[in-house]
Amino acid sequence: MEALARLSQGGLRIGKVSSLYRTEPWGRGDQPWFTNLAVEADTHLSPRALLALCQRVERDLGRMDRGRWGPRELDIDILLYGGEVIDEPDLIVPHPQLPERRFALVPLAEIAPEVRHPVLGRAIAELLAEVRDSRRVLRLKGITS
Ligand code: ADP
Ligand code: MG
Repeated sequence: MEALARLSQGGLRIGKVSSLYRTEPWGRGDQPWFTNLAVEADTHLSPRALLALCQRVERDLGRMDRGRWGPRELDIDILLYGGEVIDEPDLIVPHPQLPERRFALVPLAEIAPEVRHPVLGRAIAELLAEVRDSRRVLRLKGITS
């Protein structure tokens, strides 16, 4: 996947990569489903530098794709950064919506089920077991990323 290649070039050493998942959007059923995945990586980048890298990759690839897919074709979020807790206006880690988004918890639980959410103190697998979000998240089989 092009985004992963660009993140590597920007200073991430990519570790585990989840399967790809097709995920049901909010609202009316006439919107296309999203594709989601989770990635584990090591980096020397600070959280803020990592956010800047994610935004640069979003922007660069988004610009390439815009004509075909519209404005929100790529979204790269920082779900966790080790056990760090950051609460700033433009950077919140762990990602504030992580515990309520099945589409983020499912791929994250595939690669890091035992990792603990540093604020809630619960493992990712536990958060997934408890999430109330009922949107469907379907694993795509036979696709390696
Ligand atoms: P979404 O919440 O759906 O990912 P956006 O990608 O448009 O929506 O949100 C982008 C904004 O979220 C950015 O301006 C960024 O500063 C902020 N933000 C705060 N915390 C994070 C995080 N952990 N990961 C990514 N973006 C974050
Ligand atoms: Mg985002």
